[in-house]
Amino acid sequence: MSRRWLFADQLGPHFLDERKQPVLLIESKAVFRRRVYHRQKAHLILSALRHRAAELGDQAIFLRGETYGQALRTVREPLEVCHPTSRRALEFVRELDRVTVLPARGHVTSLEDFADWADGRRGALRMEAFYRFAREHHGVLMDGHEPAGGRWSFDTENREPPPKDGRLGVPAPPMPKEDDIDAEVRADLDRWAREGIRFTGRDGPRRFPATAGEATARLRHFLRHRLAAFGRYEDAMLSTDPWLAHSLLSSSFNLGLLDPMEAVRGAERAYRRQGAPLAAVEGFVRQVMGWRDYVWHTYWYFGRGWGDSNELSARRSLPDWWRDLDADAVDARCLADVLTGVRDRAWAHHIPRLMVLGNYALQRGWRPAELVEWFHTRFVDGYEWVMTGNVVGMSQYADLGRMTTKPYVAGGAYINRMSDYCGGCRYDPRQRVGEDACPFTAGHWAFLARNRSRIPANARMARTMKQLSRLGDLDAVVAQEKRRGSDPP
Ligand SMILES: Cc1cc2nc3c(=O)[nH]c(=O)nc-3n(C[C@H](O)[C@H](O)[C@H](O)COP(=O)(O)OP(=O)(O)OC[C@H]3O[C@@H](n4cnc5c(N)ncnc54)[C@H](O)[C@@H]3O)c2cc1C
Ligand code: SF4
Repeated sequence: MSRRWLFADQLGPHFLDERKQPVLLIESKAVFRRRVYHRQKAHLILSALRHRAAELGDQAIFLRGETYGQALRTVREPLEVCHPTSRRALEFVRELDRVTVLPARGHVTSLEDFADWADGRRGALRMEAFYRFAREHHGVLMDGHEPAGGRWSFDTENREPPPKDGRLGVPAPPMPKEDDIDAEVRADLDRWAREGIRFTGRDGPRRFPATAGEATARLRHFLRHRLAAFGRYEDAMLSTDPWLAHSLLSSSFNLGLLDPMEAVRGAERAYRRQGAPLAAVEGFVRQVMGWRDYVWHTYWYFGRGWGDSNELSARRSLPDWWRDLDADAVDARCLADVLTGVRDRAWAHHIPRLMVLGNYALQRGWRPAELVEWFHTRFVDGYEWVMTGNVVGMSQYADLGRMTTKPYVAGGAYINRMSDYCGGCRYDPRQRVGEDACPFTAGHWAFLARNRSRIPANARMARTMKQLSRLGDLDAVVAQEKRRGSDPP
């Protein structure tokens, strides 16, 4: 049996064919020289890799060195590897004549099935259509030929604002316990930092699973205690509770610790056997086998050029306070809180990423490519494949709508409705000009004014564009936001 080379994002049992299969693991220090990673992300990657090496014991050759190339020169036997998750890594392994590249794992739908589905369609490849195909193809939440409950999506029931008392009433997710391997990782990272490798963000206790066991425990706890509230409060934001009822499993899926199909089947069982609400279960299943798979497949299917899109001609560089996660420089309460979360936890849930961070960057006209790098390196679950769709496509609308029908840009009214932030903020979400003007509200109109001729006219934008044309103070708003520029709001 060939030795299976596992990359550091292929660490779970579903990346092996047999329990006793010989394995090669490589830890490359050069990876951490190339980019400025969040300290907690670097910790999680190293901890997960070293935990896997410890679990496998003699079954694995574990090489720690500068580069993959150097490490590989010391292994003489033929190797096989599952399709890596970035173009650069795929090209690298394909050029090695001793290495056989196997089909990709770690997602619900195969690359071939997606390509067959996509090749046969005309028009835009929307997530909703792919999600239906995937549900039918894999028989998930289906009653015969019909979707469970008679609908493919329960999204309309899943967009509630947070409860007024600021409490969801669900137990917090279980946090992993650090061990000797984590202590060794922390000491190594301290040493690397002294040697000149740069990290950003604050160090802190490891909050995300580093082993398949820890990931499975978090999944079970989520299915039993938190899933029921997931759907209702999926879009809500609370200053007092960063986790809400989210699963906190993205890093586990992306490190390959947890098979997403296990989570999907577990959620379906919770609906069929334990009476979990269908809207919550469907919402979670859509995130995992709909959105996550769709983002993975479009990364490969739309090709290399997609990631370079900048159709809104956003040319400003990310400011230092943003790069350095300097939340203390920011007054705007929503942005300060979310940036604090990134600095201290290397994580935020979907709506803070999309409607606070991404929204602000879009309004300010920051370069999508720099933002891709920022999200990739600052979040525990950031990987190249997940960035193109989420940042270039969804959040920055840099491709003029291959994924979405309109830009995710919104003013303070949205944030006010979906969070508890505005009450304690020095700005007023209703004001667009003057001392109290909310930077999101003003930024929203300034963005639309700047991009009026670039954003394709469609029915979903028509009302907003009409409102824009009626604003009597638009010139003042535009001038004010020009002065604000990329300064911390
Ligand atoms: C600008 C931006 C950047 C993002 N960057 C990342 C990233 O680096 N890595 C990442 O995994 N997700 C990313 N996402 C998607 C999503 O925000 C995170 O997957 C989610 O917030 C992780 O928290 P969770 O595990 O609690 O997710 P839940 O809310 O519990 O959702 C369940 C699972 O669904 C999957 N999922 C849901 N939406 C998406 C999506 N749009 N793309 C991919 N997977 C999805 C994740 O695996 C997640 O664990 C990004 C979204 C935006 C808008
Ligand atoms: S008023 Fe504006 S800046 Fe302040 S919290 Fe609300 S949306 Fe954010």
